[in-house]
Amino acid sequence: MENYKRTHSCGELRLIDANKRVILNGWVHRIRDHGGIHFINLRDRYGITQVVVNPGSPESLLETVRSLKPEYCIAVKGKVLKRPRNMVNHDMPTGEIEVEAREIVILSQCAPLPFVIDDKTDARDEARIKYRYLDLRSFSMQRKIRLRHRAAFAVREFLEGEEFYEIETPTLIKSTPEGARDFLVPARLFPGKFFALPQSPQLFKQILMVGGLDRYFQLARCYRDEDARGDRQLEFTQIDIEMSFVDREDVLSLTEGLYAHLFKKVLGAELSLPFPRLSFAQAMDRFGTDKPDGRFALELGDFSPWAGEGEFGVFQEALAGGGTVKYLAVPEGENFTRKGIAELEETAKTYGAGGLAWMRVVKTPEGRGALEGGIAKFFAPRQEAIISALGLKEGTLLLFSAGPWKTACQSLGAVRLKLGRDLGLIDKNRFHFLWVVDFPLFEYSEENQGWKPAHHMFSMPQKRFLPTLEENPGEVLGDLYDLVLNGYELGSGSIRIHDPELQKRIFRIIGLSDEEAEKRFGFLLKAFAFGAPPHGGIAAGFDRTVMLMAGEESIREVIPFPKNTQGASPMEESPAEVDPRQLEELGLQIRGKTPGQERQT
Ligand code: ASP
Repeated sequence: MENYKRTHSCGELRLIDANKRVILNGWVHRIRDHGGIHFINLRDRYGITQVVVNPGSPESLLETVRSLKPEYCIAVKGKVLKRPRNMVNHDMPTGEIEVEAREIVILSQCAPLPFVIDDKTDARDEARIKYRYLDLRSFSMQRKIRLRHRAAFAVREFLEGEEFYEIETPTLIKSTPEGARDFLVPARLFPGKFFALPQSPQLFKQILMVGGLDRYFQLARCYRDEDARGDRQLEFTQIDIEMSFVDREDVLSLTEGLYAHLFKKVLGAELSLPFPRLSFAQAMDRFGTDKPDGRFALELGDFSPWAGEGEFGVFQEALAGGGTVKYLAVPEGENFTRKGIAELEETAKTYGAGGLAWMRVVKTPEGRGALEGGIAKFFAPRQEAIISALGLKEGTLLLFSAGPWKTACQSLGAVRLKLGRDLGLIDKNRFHFLWVVDFPLFEYSEENQGWKPAHHMFSMPQKRFLPTLEENPGEVLGDLYDLVLNGYELGSGSIRIHDPELQKRIFRIIGLSDEEAEKRFGFLLKAFAFGAPPHGGIAAGFDRTVMLMAGEESIREVIPFPKNTQGASPMEESPAEVDPRQLEELGLQIRGKTPGQERQT
């Protein structure tokens, strides 16, 4: 390398460098032979520079050039030349110059490529993950990795300015599941015992508060052994935050400040603060989800007062069963065919609805508003009153979902989202942040026939529910909050319990006996016995944040080495079997293989 170390990067040279003797190192991006003149686009992280090899060059140089292939790693010694005016490329920062090669050294050759390295690759995701080192060379990946780096830096910069300490917490810990399955690590020095990888640093960050550190953050790796599904990754990164002597407002405004700084610094985008807030109940009622996409209006309404008056049995049954009837008024709905409505119905059914009722608002020849089609006939006597009370315009398509409140809201919420996408109502260039607050603290689990925490079991119930927690856990609201961006849950957090007695009451409600709680979380309860400060915090998904900043739809696009959709890594082929000696040292024996595993080996 000694004589061939670069003097400049491939993105650096400009007109004022003309006539300089330079050395460039990089990869052959493209190579063309124009009637004996060879043009090489030489690429590195910083850009592309055109290298030209003239036909009159020494034979040894010509020979080397003829042997070059895309992605060979080379060094070029040469002279910077001003390009002739008609050859200037205004799309490239280095487009006014080229480097006339005097010598080219092949630093390493490249095997036949599984896909062409390019910004707009159509290579299959699997190949891109398997040959990640090639995918990472593309400008689009390099841009995203740079964005990720800059985002991490901006987070640190802001939090340092707010007097937070960045503190690492251990990744070999006691198994304390937080809702998902733990990854276990056998402990060789303690045969039969296991560490777990943290699902999040939750308990450690709370204990740091007991330790008087007051304001903590970490770009924390989290591990959850969940079934491969959608855009999930087994390991991911959170911006993890905890603060002492705070209430909800402090955590929310700190987080808003953090995101405003991050988006300004990295994207130059101004976020308007404070972010709007919805209660969980409002979010469900108006958008049919606890993570509303606020980039378009089209809100759900309550049709229950009218539903009881009509003669439509499905609605009446829903109301009689304590449920509700929700509606969506879709403007310019005359363009929907029955097939289009059937597609929307499929979406509603996926979210548990029995069906999707509909009718249209039309104008009679006398110029009055009327309801037509679908279930209109059941509401004919009240049609004018309905049209005026709901403020409906001619051409509106009304869609209805009836059933238990949550199902009616969620199914119609899914229809709303589909309409938003299909009708192009979503402004893709907008960042719409909002908070969802006042979540229920507990959810009923049919599977376990008991209460489970809606977030995690360390969250504080709202004060007014404290005296009566046990009476009706389903009604208790927590001091919980979710940060939502463009319909994605970006993060969640809570004010925590710091009183060991209250923590034990929560454990009991979710069915953990005092004994079991002591066994699993005794260390936390013990720490709380030593003057624990009131505290609260939040964790925001870092991968997801960067994904949305990059305008991508999968977190795999912004993770340098992601797992594939099966939760495996095809690059180094993990997970993999291990040497029998390793198992022996750990005192482990593999009992049998699942059929799937046998096929692979
Ligand atoms: N540890 C929580 C989670 O990972 C976040 C928090 O409450 O701070 O979801």
